[in-house]
Amino acid sequence: MSLVYNTSESIEDYVTCLRGTFVTGKSRDAYARKFFLERLYALVKDNEEKFYVALAKDLNKSRADALASEISPVLEECVYFLKHYDSLTKDKKVKARMTVNRTDTAFVRREALGVVLIISTWNFPLQLSLVPLAGALAAGNCVVLKLSEISVHTSALITDLLPKYIDSSMYRVVNGGVEETQHLLRQRFDHIFYTGNSVVAKSVMTAAAQHLTPVTLELGGKSPAIVTDDSNMQIVANRIAYGKFFNAGQTCIAVDYVFVPKSRIDEFTKAILKTLQNWYGSNPQKSKDYGRIVSQKHFDRLMSLINHRQSGDIIAGGQSDREDRYIAPTIITNVNFHDVKLMGEEIFGPILPIITYNEIEEPMGLIAKHEPGLALYLFSKKKSVINQVLAFTKSGGVTINDTLLHQAEHGLPFGGVGSSGMGGYHGEKSIQIFSHERAVLAKKQRMEWLVQARYPPSSPTKLALLRAVLLTDPVRFTYIVFKRPIKWAAFIIILLGILLKRSLN
Ligand code: NAD
Repeated sequence: MSLVYNTSESIEDYVTCLRGTFVTGKSRDAYARKFFLERLYALVKDNEEKFYVALAKDLNKSRADALASEISPVLEECVYFLKHYDSLTKDKKVKARMTVNRTDTAFVRREALGVVLIISTWNFPLQLSLVPLAGALAAGNCVVLKLSEISVHTSALITDLLPKYIDSSMYRVVNGGVEETQHLLRQRFDHIFYTGNSVVAKSVMTAAAQHLTPVTLELGGKSPAIVTDDSNMQIVANRIAYGKFFNAGQTCIAVDYVFVPKSRIDEFTKAILKTLQNWYGSNPQKSKDYGRIVSQKHFDRLMSLINHRQSGDIIAGGQSDREDRYIAPTIITNVNFHDVKLMGEEIFGPILPIITYNEIEEPMGLIAKHEPGLALYLFSKKKSVINQVLAFTKSGGVTINDTLLHQAEHGLPFGGVGSSGMGGYHGEKSIQIFSHERAVLAKKQRMEWLVQARYPPSSPTKLALLRAVLLTDPVRFTYIVFKRPIKWAAFIIILLGILLKRSLN
């Protein structure tokens, strides 16, 4: 199967048309936004079976994995936006802090940005396209959605279905490779939302800089797991295996490598071998629940990590089949943290390096040598250890005593830090990033006698009044003295004002 790539002319036309739609206000209409979300929900629900087939063709994704990581997040996000639409989009009142604004109205209004570009990737081709799309449209934008050219079956299905469900005047789908994406990036957008690797992210940022376009970058990195010695090793092994071998390790927040206490390494390896045997049998290639590597290019990259590693003993896996893009779940013990092959770059495949340690400070020190990952996993029952690890490490997100789940919890913002990304999304955070939070202060045409102190010509009395208003605010003063604001302090300022007004006359 191959995708029909867009021409440069069609890309330019799309952006121009969407700009036209945005100006009409159609995408900002509340009814249109809710209708779009309902139709997006219906698109995924009605075509669930077709998506299972497409995802299986692209990644041999099992139905359970596709349901949990592709179908359900999109449905959940649509329902969340529909249910909370009014509270998410209504003006947020702000209590004015300046004395002269206390009786006025201040609020923040979330306004759509305009035409947004979403560049998606292949490892979760449905979720990573439609979840940001739902957020951008719920926020009232028009959207150009660039799908992955690698997960062709899912991209083709989305391209076919979207116009059947939703009037395409508010969005356009673009298909293409590097050339088409680069042409897209030359257009002017009001926001660019990119998911993918950090090398391409740099060119996305460079292109965005030409138009001073804000960006959200959802990238990857090495996400470590730390197992501490108070853990139940079978439970930990199950959860680490899930975080590593889900989608054959091609998950941005996959467990990249794991630290295990030296005192419990035998128990851990025994437990994880048992897990793999129970889940995939003695030949995982025959298991319907085990995924495939998305392309032969990625297959070759992963096999080179296994074959040219500088340390470690393979205790499970290592087998492969290039034609089938199959790499067995591979576990490598005795890995040296400084092995440039296994420990240099994000693995993004079904290879699990295990490193042993004696004291908890060792993994924390080593983790700090890498750029912060998108996730960090810690298995511990001790609050003090949890707090210590949280305080001395950095990552986009954290799941404690499990893996992957902080990403699935859409009540939490999801995103990276440093080289693992910039900006987060999911739920309310999506509405925030796809909106401009416009600050509005609505004053009344009165109290001129009080505010006139700011007008020229200046005088010592005006300066005294300014000082009283700006620096000796009694509310602030009472906060300093009594550690809480005293409400009647507002009356004092009015009294002061009246006294000063008299002295001005
Ligand atoms: P990829 O190669 O599919 O690239 C992503 C998008 O960028 C595609 O739409 C592609 O057309 C475009 N692209 C590729 N090369 C380009 C270029 N030179 N110029 C302009 N556009 C270009 O994706 P990938 O990099 O293989 O994705 C894997 C990476 O993405 C991993 O690092 C993974 O951790 C990360 N990732 C992050 C998240 C997240 O939510 N943070 C999710 C999934 C994947």
